[in-house]
Amino acid sequence: MGKWLEGLRCSSCWRYSPPKTYTSSWECDYFFDDGATISKYVFQGQRKAVSTKFEVRCVRRKLLLEALANELPRGTIRYLSKVVAIEESGFFKILHLIDGTTIKTKVLIGCDGINSVVAKWLGFKEATYTERFAIRGCLELETNHSFEPILKQYFGKGFRAGVVPCDEKVVYWFFTWTPNSQDKELIQNPAKLKQYVLNKLENVPSYVKSFIEKTELDSFHLAPLRYRQPWKLIMGNISKGNVCVAGDALHPMTPDLGQGGCCALEDGVVLARCLAEAFSNKSKKEEKEEEYKRIEEGLKRYANERRWRCIDLITTAYIVGFVQQGNSKLVTFLRDKLFAPLLFGQLLKKSNFNCGKLNIP
Ligand SMILES: Cc1cc2nc3c(=O)[nH]c(=O)nc-3n(C[C@H](O)[C@H](O)[C@H](O)COP(=O)(O)OP(=O)(O)OC[C@H]3O[C@@H](n4cnc5c(N)ncnc54)[C@H](O)[C@@H]3O)c2cc1C
Repeated sequence: MGKWLEGLRCSSCWRYSPPKTYTSSWECDYFFDDGATISKYVFQGQRKAVSTKFEVRCVRRKLLLEALANELPRGTIRYLSKVVAIEESGFFKILHLIDGTTIKTKVLIGCDGINSVVAKWLGFKEATYTERFAIRGCLELETNHSFEPILKQYFGKGFRAGVVPCDEKVVYWFFTWTPNSQDKELIQNPAKLKQYVLNKLENVPSYVKSFIEKTELDSFHLAPLRYRQPWKLIMGNISKGNVCVAGDALHPMTPDLGQGGCCALEDGVVLARCLAEAFSNKSKKEEKEEEYKRIEEGLKRYANERRWRCIDLITTAYIVGFVQQGNSKLVTFLRDKLFAPLLFGQLLKKSNFNCGKLNIP
């Protein structure tokens, strides 16, 4: 989680979210699995500094979406409305939906995820595959799990796994790895996949494995990891006229910093500020062209403000993932002996970004 939650302080989302979130430690425990023995890395001597400066929270996506949706007037959200084409119409855009209906809009903000139609319209190519995959699971227990509120991560040869409680009864876990040619058939078979994960994690504490064991197969979510190559963001159009992209449509990244969704929320705070400014300068007898220009300027400001933040996160996440999930002897040696504190620090430091407040002073 990042400072975006503070950015939303003025809305009831802020009041709604924290009680539903579970502060999950000011520290991460690192375990390096090199076969028979597991050594534990803790932030000796720095714990206090870390705890006062940074914080890791587990925010459940469903609760956050509900909180955000509850802020909007009824009927604002239109579900099951897949955009299939975008048409120019003077100072407006016309969206063609899959059911044949059209929507005319002054501003088009593409938050349509990694396969964004709007990003394609702006000239971005498809997100790049990394060959890595992630499995995520969420276990909802009927009784308290008694698991301390700490994010624990485990590193093995060619894989990374982690477990974190979301609240007293819910535990989230993940496992990332690069499948080889034999593993590929596992991808089609959730039962075998579960067994594969458990075998890989044979050296982690049994209570951690039990969370995965108890997770139902239909709660296993498998995804290939993709990202936007940073240099495509240096040159690409984040906005054009009255169109822009935000969230994964703009900055798909590997999940190694846990910042993709947080970055999307930062986009939202900055974009809302830029657009509010554009609309608040409206004069009474304004021509459509003037309004279009102000929107265009607002979106340009948004693009400039977000470009390097996105590039930074995509690049750092990719490098952190490459090193942490290291397969070669050299990379695992460097990871275990040199980079652990550095990588851990990045995880916290990058999430501590201040995107400012939602309201204009
Ligand atoms: C394994 C994994 C772990 C992750 N862990 C974290 C984490 O710990 N912390 C974190 O912050 N982030 C994490 N992320 C990233 C996070 O999930 C994404 O960054 C976030 O979901 C992006 O939100 P979004 O709204 O931009 O896109 P999405 O969540 O993909 O939403 C896009 C929406 O657009 C809709 N849509 C798509 N196409 C169209 C269309 N043509 N027309 C209309 N609507 C359309 C979709 O139905 C969907 O509702 C993780 C990602 C992965 C893969």
